[in-house]
Order: sequence, then C-alpha cells, then structure tokens
Amino acid sequence: MNFDMGEAEKQVCGKVRELFTEDAAAELTGMEILPMEDVRRITRHWLTSLGEAGYPMSSVKNGRNSVSLVVNQEQLAALAPALFLSVEVSIRIFGRLVARFGTEDQKNGVLPGLISGKRMGAVALSENSMNIENDALNTTGVSSTDGFRVAGSKGHVINAPIADWIAVAGKMDGQEGSAFFLMQKKSKGLFIGERLSTLGYEGVPISPIRLKDASVPATHVIHMDSAALQTVRMWEDQVLTAASLGLMRRSFDAALEHAKTHKSGGKPIVAYQEVGFKLAEMLTLFQTAQLLAYRAAWMSESEDREADVLAHSAKVFCAESAEKISSDALQILGGKGYVRGNPVEAGYRDAKYIQIAGTSTEISRMKIGDRVLGY
Ligand SMILES: Cc1cc2nc3c(=O)[nH]c(=O)nc-3n(C[C@H](O)[C@H](O)[C@H](O)COP(=O)(O)OP(=O)(O)OC[C@H]3O[C@@H](n4cnc5c(N)ncnc54)[C@H](O)[C@@H]3O)c2cc1C
Repeated sequence: MNFDMGEAEKQVCGKVRELFTEDAAAELTGMEILPMEDVRRITRHWLTSLGEAGYPMSSVKNGRNSVSLVVNQEQLAALAPALFLSVEVSIRIFGRLVARFGTEDQKNGVLPGLISGKRMGAVALSENSMNIENDALNTTGVSSTDGFRVAGSKGHVINAPIADWIAVAGKMDGQEGSAFFLMQKKSKGLFIGERLSTLGYEGVPISPIRLKDASVPATHVIHMDSAALQTVRMWEDQVLTAASLGLMRRSFDAALEHAKTHKSGGKPIVAYQEVGFKLAEMLTLFQTAQLLAYRAAWMSESEDREADVLAHSAKVFCAESAEKISSDALQILGGKGYVRGNPVEAGYRDAKYIQIAGTSTEISRMKIGDRVLGY
C-alpha cells in the first residue's frame, strides 16, 4: 500500500485550503436560514471554485475511491461540513451513477454541467422510513407511450430543493432489477417538500420528495441490477466515511487549540493530565480511523475482492470514532462547547447522522458478520 500523495495532489489540497479565506468561509455560515435561491447560488459558486482548484472531479468518471481523494475529502469536510455533503452527493454519488451506469447520451447530457458546477444532482435511494436492505423498492415506473409514469416517495433527499437533476431509485413494472429515473427539476409530477430541519448538518438542503404520475422519458432511465444499487450505496458510505474524518479533524483541532489557550487554576488546561490523556486518546483514535479509511480506499482503487467489507468496517469505525472524539472535544471545551455556534457542538450533532445514513452502523456490522461467516 502506498499512502503518499504526489506533488500535484498536494497542490490541489493547498489550493482548496486557500479558497477558504475568512470572508469566503463566512458566506457558508447560516445556510440553514437562507432562502433556497441563495443556497443554490452559493453552492454552485463553490462547486465551480472547487472544480477550478482541482478538487478531484476526475474520480467521477472512474468511479473508484483513492487515498488522495479521501485526503482531499477529509480536508473539505473539516473546512465546510455541510457544503461537503452537497458537493459530494452531486458529483461523487449522482455523477458517478451517470458516469458508470448511464448511456452515452445521458453522460454527454449530464456530466459536463455537473463537473463544471453549473448543474447539481441529488440521489433518492431510501424510501420513506425504509432502508434498501430489508424491503423491495416501492417506487415504480409503469411503461407508457412516451416512456414511464412513475409513482413513489422518498423521505430525506440531500440537495432536492436545489438540484437540477434527481436520480430516483425504483423498479420498472414487470421487469427484473431496479432503475434510476432521472428527473429534472421541473418534471411534471415531481413534488419537492418543505426543507427539513435536522439535528446536525443544518446547512444542507434536505427535503422529502413525492412522485405522482411523473412522466420520465425512456432516455432518462438507467436500468441496473441489484448489485449495482449496492455499489451506489457503497459510494454513499465512502462519502460518509470521509465526512467522519473531517468531523474528527475539526473537533480535535478545536479541542487542542482550546486546551492550549484556555487557563484554569493559572495554567492552560492541557497541563492537566486528564485533559492531555483525553487529547492523546482522541488523536490515537483519529489516526487509526484515518488509516482504516485509507486502507479501504486503497482496496477500492486496486479492486480488491474484500474492498466492500473493508468499506463497511471503515464506515462503522470512522462514524463511531467521530461521535467519541466530538464528545471528548466538547468535554474539553466545557461550558463554551455546550453553547451553540462552535464546531465542536455542531460536530457532536453531525456525528449521529453519519451512523444512521447510508448503510447504518447496525446493518454495516451485519454485513461484515455475513462476510466473516462466508454468506
Ligand atoms: C439527514 C438525512 C439525509 C438523508 N439523505 C438521503 C439522500 O439524499 N438520499 C437517500 O436516498 N436517502 C437519504 N437519507 C436516508 C438514509 O439513507 C436512511 O435514513 C438510512 O438508510 C436509514 O434508513 P431509515 O431511516 O429508514 O431507518 P431504518 O432502516 O428504519 O432503521 C432504523 C433503525 O433500525 C436498524 N435496522 C434496520 N434494519 C435492520 C437490520 N436488518 N438489521 C439490524 N438493524 C436494522 C437501523 O440500523 C436503525 O438503527 C437521509 C437520511 C437523513 C437522516
């Protein structure tokens, strides 16, 4: 395994970091209360800037995870957690879906706008209160003269209020396998619900969606088998693993800074062994999580037979470590950490999302266990 980054990759990291000047970063605060038009404009502007800085849009086309991609993702997730999720859903999940499974026309029609940041995507996989593991998809497309008439609903869809395209997972009446229906923002029969107010990642625009007799031309359907659906789920899990790394970095850095500068009893609190040990444990956990995520990325890149089980292991370990580290960080910040508006309390709330979304930590463990038992 080689976890070193080349010069060009290091430069991309540097360029992305430079984008986050104080003024630019300020634009991203309070996204949860901005009108949706502003959220759309700001997110697109960042997508374009990230693309120009070389934020790895290339992985959209090859579909694989690589170590340098994870390093870049971790940095963006630490600098701007909500923006990170919007960007990654658009390019890494929606973009890869079209690039890997779409027709040439779909690729030509969708990918250039997506990669340049002029267009945005969303992916609706899970149905209302129903993960994709236990139950068959309810969303169904019935064949019609001009394509399909689709009906169904999805509970939480990141980017739904600002996306130009929403790929909705479902099945086609009377046919094997599953399908993604590529819906355009203004598609007839597509209803986007009110923005949801969430515990964490409050800046991310998330809505439920409903399809009622929605008309989708045959050219806007991606037909795939159930294994392909799991691949899309794995991409989602890889994004969430990187989100965990960013969260850990953000919380650890804030706790370290506070421990060095905040005084109690006449000395910086880092001088107290209990605080120093906590930081030592946090760093050890963070470094271990990072290594596991890199290893999972390396195995995905080299198409290792066990890449999927490592991806689940990394998701579980990173998501749970993120909660532990953000909790310890909050403890170190004391009363300051408990007041809204600092990265540590936000990270503490964000951490729960990573354990629930994508393949939940319970289901990930089940899948790892199945693999161990040889199922
Ligand atoms: C903020 C947010 C944004 C989201 N964005 C998107 C999006 O953009 N696109 C999208 O498609 N989805 C999205 N989701 C949906 C998300 O992927 C699902 O919430 C997730 O898959 C879990 O499904 P569920 O909520 O139906 O919980 P359930 O599946 O009902 O699970 C509830 C609990 O039971 C456990 N459980 C369920 N089945 C099993 C089992 N077989 N074995 C062991 N334990 C089990 C789960 O681990 C969990 O603890 C989002 C969710 C949230 C919260």
